[in-house]
Amino acid sequence: MKIEKLILGYFAVNCYIVELKDLKILIDPGADFKKVQELLISNNTRPDLIINTHGHYDHIGAVPEVVEEYGINFYIDREEEQIVIDPEKNCSSIFGQNTLSLKTYNLISGADKKYFNRFEIEIIKTPGHTPGSIIIKIEKKLFTGDLLFKGAIGRTDLPGGNLSDIKSSLLKLKRFDKDLEVFLGHGPGTSLENEFETNPYLDSIFLDK
Ligand SMILES: [Zn+2]
Repeated sequence: MKIEKLILGYFAVNCYIVELKDLKILIDPGADFKKVQELLISNNTRPDLIINTHGHYDHIGAVPEVVEEYGINFYIDREEEQIVIDPEKNCSSIFGQNTLSLKTYNLISGADKKYFNRFEIEIIKTPGHTPGSIIIKIEKKLFTGDLLFKGAIGRTDLPGGNLSDIKSSLLKLKRFDKDLEVFLGHGPGTSLENEFETNPYLDSIFLDK
């Protein structure tokens, strides 16, 4: 598996291009289509699908252009629909250069193993930052979107955010192998082991457990 990371836009969103042999997945294209396209062109590659960890503007802004340019499907959790269609809920009306309401999307249900071109991709539902936030496990890599950051967690004060839900979602991380490599929605990468040892939000006191 090959993973390339782009850091995009004012909020420095991490966009990942994951190559699994002949399957190329774009995780969270961010809101800067030109930079994503430049990398794809310089790698002489085309994405096969987009999966988003959640629907905030800074993570989905480039989706309409990617979908149009490459004619591919965009997958996001069912409970994120209101966010991708509502500029206030996806925060484009506050932070974006224009308001964003997606027209083309494929809704999936969390807690699923999905097969794309025979490759298993595990989708785990982790609400809290938004109602339909998911994390994505591919082999020994975990893409956590804005659930988890290095030493921190995603905010819960935006529309649809919920502190008690994010605590339950963070508890789900405990079921994974500690040696999983973690790819975050913002900031540098980490490992689950490092976060279990150092992140105060994974402490049993914060999680009420
Ligand atoms: Zn977000």
